[in-house]
Parts: sequence; structure tokens; C-alpha cells
Amino acid sequence: MKDLKGFLEGLPDVKDAAQYGVYEKSVNQNGSMWVFMIREADDDYIVAAGEGSEAFQGEAFECAGMKCVKAPKTFENGCVLRKLFPFTAPVPVLRKTRSVGVGDRLGIAAPGHIRVFNKYDAYPVFAQQSIRELNLTNRTYEDVLDSASFYVFRDGYKDGFGADGDHLKKPEDVEYALSLGFTMITLDCSDHIRNDVDAMSKEEVDAALTLSEEEKSRYLGKKFEIGNGVVLEFTEEELKRNILIYKEAVDFAVHIYRTCFKNGEVNADFEISIDETETPTKPSQHFYVASELTRQGVKIATMAPRFCGEFQKGIDYIGDLAQFEQELKVHAAIAEHFGYKLSIHSGSDKFSTFKLIGKYTKGRFHLKTAGTNWLEAMRAAAATDPALYRAVHKYALTMFEEAKKFYHVTTDLSKIPDVDTLSDAELVDLFKQNDARQLIHITYGFILNAKDEQGNFLFRDRLYQIWRDEEDVYASMLEAHIGKHLALLYEGFGQ
Ligand code: ZN
Repeated sequence: MKDLKGFLEGLPDVKDAAQYGVYEKSVNQNGSMWVFMIREADDDYIVAAGEGSEAFQGEAFECAGMKCVKAPKTFENGCVLRKLFPFTAPVPVLRKTRSVGVGDRLGIAAPGHIRVFNKYDAYPVFAQQSIRELNLTNRTYEDVLDSASFYVFRDGYKDGFGADGDHLKKPEDVEYALSLGFTMITLDCSDHIRNDVDAMSKEEVDAALTLSEEEKSRYLGKKFEIGNGVVLEFTEEELKRNILIYKEAVDFAVHIYRTCFKNGEVNADFEISIDETETPTKPSQHFYVASELTRQGVKIATMAPRFCGEFQKGIDYIGDLAQFEQELKVHAAIAEHFGYKLSIHSGSDKFSTFKLIGKYTKGRFHLKTAGTNWLEAMRAAAATDPALYRAVHKYALTMFEEAKKFYHVTTDLSKIPDVDTLSDAELVDLFKQNDARQLIHITYGFILNAKDEQGNFLFRDRLYQIWRDEEDVYASMLEAHIGKHLALLYEGFGQ
């Protein structure tokens, strides 16, 4: 602790906090207790001074006549912090006009993200992970939530952020996230969506389902006018196909809403994701799902359809932008009609679509990014420790085939230059190349978990050390890169 005594004696004049090793923006008061964060060589710590400081668990000491505690960033201390300073606890943000998820797989991205969201009125979701991401990064939801809370406290971000239990498929996972205070759940319905119906003939469809009188009267012979000049009608065959594909997914969402969300009593937002399917979501399918959920009393904040074209990981949109625009217009109208926001998944780096998204949603959207934040972290590593990056890159090449089993990517490894022939400066530019981006994108779990024969991490510890030592490099890169996402979205609705 760098002359903490001087700092504490100087309270409440805290404007020179930095010279004492204190994060200036972290200085907060609760009653007569001061709470702030300090930077030490190994990590950041919370320091509480004065009456009530014993609520934190850590090293107790006395300083400048005050009882103090130096507390590590544990989950228990995170809970105390969230209680004392509510701005460090997540809030439901999907219900706000616009929101952006910035999945932080490593638990180190928030400082850069905070710089972005200080400039825009969109609400961030700093804590956002899927179960698969938790497993691949060896993290827990406690840790994901803590990372966001501690950075928000340290860097003084007081405008509110969300926490997303992302792409959850099981009731127990939904319960786990909600029990920790996560403020949104993205229910991944893909296990309940049939992918074989498109290939069925009309006869097979007729044989598989007979419409009930209720279903007929709800959908057939009607024109659904949903705004933006969009009118939807169902043919009998189309309705049957929609029911075959989506009915089980709707039932699943209804069940989760009634049980885990206690019919809406739980203070969290509900997002339905139907994007992880083999074919794009047709407008009539989107309408059917929304209409059935509404009819059964399910209040959703957002829905993520699968759009036409390809939203591959970490690279720009691939496909027919004119068609995308047409379909986006209809999907946005359906969402507006039912009173929720469109959620755009796999939103990392889809620069050619952002203006359109801003435009057709009229600035009401949720955009979800994750992998691009990891890619920027690796770009920061390449910029600050080229030798380490080269080793990671070569390892990633050996794991690519294995990693590819879990992703749909069109990566061509032969287009990636040999890292040994590149200068250090050229190494950083690799991240402009789609094939290199996807290579590093999909191998993150392998890179973080790789161990030598003695069981030591090959890269993980060294990478984290760099990201800590060079925190500002990563934060600046994120500020520019995520900032570019937001600038284009805002341009779309004229801001
Ligand atoms: Zn998704």
C-alpha cells in the first residue's frame, strides 16, 4: 500500500487519490465509511476505512485513527460491495431503449467497455456468458458478475449495467443465474426447434399434424397488419410447418417463464433466442412464436431470430445485404408490433449491417457481441508481446480442426501468413484478416486451457499478466473497436 496513511489523513479531499495508489474514481462513501480500490503489484484490492469496514473480509489494520480492511476481490466481498453501493449490482437493461451485450470471456474487458458506454446512452451488459463459455474459460457466474461489479466500482461507472445468463438451455442454469442476481436470461430454445420440417413434403406435413379448430381460427383466413406496411397471412401448410417446428420451443419458453420467472414476478428480463437453427427465421415463424408467447401471457423483452445470410464469428456479415434489409424491416416491425426489441446475436464486427439495424429498429435494439472482445485482447497481446503471440498462434493452428467441430466458419488456413515471416508490426495487422481472426476466435478455449506436462498453463498465466501490465493498451483498443460498433448503429437512427 503506497502511503495510504497520507490519503486517509487527507480525506475527504480525494482529488489527488492517484498519487497514493488509489483509483481516483473508486472513492465512495457509505455513512461514515470510505471505500475505494488500490492497485498492488499482483491485483487490485478494496480498502474500507471507518465504521462498518468489518463487513468486508480481509486483512484488518488501523490507519490514520481508522479501522480499516484490505479486502481481496472475492465473491463474498463482491456481495458486500453490491449491497453498499447499488450501482455495482446489475439492473434489468433490456427494457431500456437500447442495450448492447459485451461478453467479457476473460473478466478484464470492462475498463475499455466503460470508456465506450460513457459516450453513448445505450445500456451495457458487462456480465454476459453462456455455459459453454464458462466451461471453456474455467469461470463461474459468481466470477463473471464480480468482474463487472469490481470494475464498475473501480472506474466509477454509475449509469447501470446488465448481467446476462446467455444462451441457457436448462431450467437449473436459469435458476443458477437468477439466484445470483443476473438481470436477464437468454433462453436458447434450439434443442426444442425441429430442423427436419423444411425437408418434409406437404403430404408428410399433413400426416404429421392435424390443425385444431382453435389453431385454425387463430391464424387462418386473417390478415395481420403489423405496421411498416407489413401484412402477414398464413396458408394452412405454412401454419402446420410453423407449429411442427416451433410449438415445443414455445411450450418450453412458457414453462421457464411460469416457473423460473414466476410469471414475471422475478425482476429480470427474458430474451428468447431462436437463432441457433439451420435455416433463417421466416417472418411468419417469428410472428407465430411471438403471437403464441403473448397469447400465453409470456412477457419477453427481446427476441433473437436468425437472419438470412451468415453471421459468422468475429467477421463482417456475409450475404445479400439488400435481402437482409428487407427481412430486417419485417422482423423489426413484428417486434415493435408485439412490444419487444429485436436482439441481434453474433453481432461482433457486423459493420455492414449496423446502420440498417439502427435504422429499422428506430434505435430500439439489443446487440450482442462476445468473441470480438477476446480478439481485441489477443491483438493487445500481439502488440505488446509478439513472441508470446507467435507461440499462441502456432498452437492455435494445431487445434483448429478440433475447434472447428463446434463452429460454422469458412476459414481458409492457407491464407494466413506464417507468423515467423511477419514483422512485429505486421503481426498486429493479422487481426484485419478474416481467416486469422476466425482461427484465434474459435480456439480460445484451447489457448486458455493448454497445459505442459507438469500441468502448468502454457499461455493462460502469461497472457493474463500482459493484460494486467498493459491494461491501457487493451482498453484503448476496445474503446475504438466497440466504439465503432456503436457509432454505426447510432448513425442508422440519425444520432
Ligand atoms: Zn444466439
